[in-house]
Amino acid sequence: MKNRIIYVDNNATTAVAPEVFEQMRPFFCERYGNPSSIHSFGGKVAYEVAEARRRVAALIGASQRDPDNEATEIVFTGCGTESDNAAIWSALQVCPKKSKVVMSKVEHPAVLNLGRELDRRGYPVAYVPVDTHGRLDMARLNEMVDDQTAVVSIMWANNETGNLYPVEEIAQVAHAHGALFHTDAVQAVGKVPVNMADSGIDMLSLSGHKLHAPKGIGALYVRRGVRFRPYLVGGHQEKGRRAGTENVSGIIGFGAAAELARQNLSVENERVRRLRDRLEKGVINTIPAVRINGDSENRLPNTTCISFEFIEGESILMLFDQLGICASSGSACTTGSLEPSHVLRAMGVPYTAAHGAVRFSFSRYNTEQEVDYILEHLPPIIKRLRDISPYWH
Ligand code: PLP
Repeated sequence: MKNRIIYVDNNATTAVAPEVFEQMRPFFCERYGNPSSIHSFGGKVAYEVAEARRRVAALIGASQRDPDNEATEIVFTGCGTESDNAAIWSALQVCPKKSKVVMSKVEHPAVLNLGRELDRRGYPVAYVPVDTHGRLDMARLNEMVDDQTAVVSIMWANNETGNLYPVEEIAQVAHAHGALFHTDAVQAVGKVPVNMADSGIDMLSLSGHKLHAPKGIGALYVRRGVRFRPYLVGGHQEKGRRAGTENVSGIIGFGAAAELARQNLSVENERVRRLRDRLEKGVINTIPAVRINGDSENRLPNTTCISFEFIEGESILMLFDQLGICASSGSACTTGSLEPSHVLRAMGVPYTAAHGAVRFSFSRYNTEQEVDYILEHLPPIIKRLRDISPYWH
């Protein structure tokens, strides 16, 4: 396996699928027309954009048509972060009499840091805690959501632990108080079934690069009938809901990737789950003092966040890097020092374990051989690091 990259960091980003890239290719140098143009060179591109929109809608069971034959429940954006920001800002604009926002403590920074910004601007923001497995405290959620709440935003799947949240139940809590419900489903779409047809979710964020489409393309699902105010104001693209000339090749890629994910969802995710489980089992059987962070019952099939106690995740990643293994740690670099991630802190994972957290996230391109390669090299890496760790002995 020398000189090979073993990429198990698919929650950070994924490879563009070759068949996705092939479908995008003509839209750079040949079919580069602007979909808003009157001429047919651009008009034919608009037709392809509409087809891609239908494909994204189909993946999440959104309506594929509206009276004028457009899937307007899908608004293309620049990324998942933009979708999250657009959803929450819109909710605050359309409910001017309410100003409270409720989110969890384990949201991605795309939501959490918007919460902090809203806080600074005087909006009341409540952060729902989680338990030691990262499960949402539903009792606290019920207390926090009140008649002043404009929007509840809770992620569908956590990017670090893979935990899945009971979004339909949460939507009901929001609606009981007349609030809108938004979910950041950036890590869920393409990995677990998502069906908006019989859902209470009002808005849902997606991002292309987490499901083998390119970076820089996202979408926001807005349930028909939910009022929406644009976040980016300008031209009339996206039916006036997101200004800016469309990222056509990105949209085509997103459509192609959505189609691929829809066709392969159940088979591929079972295969990916087996790889993930093989890694977990192998680690537990060969390495002492490890713990799996998260909710073993309700978790994405592709994700595991493993703490190797008494050593630093970053040191593991550096030694992995020499072997071509790409994974992530559970730490974030804040003001020059490595702090355990806000997710692990919210879960109350002890420092000695939180510092040693490594996230492995698989995709359909990973193989059993790759898992075995990791399992072959991990025990000596951990032993080597523990031998020099002042906390281990
Ligand atoms: N939300 C979650 C849960 C994510 O994991 C990510 C990316 O890591 C984002 C939002 C942001 O998506 P994007 O990179 O498309 O802005």
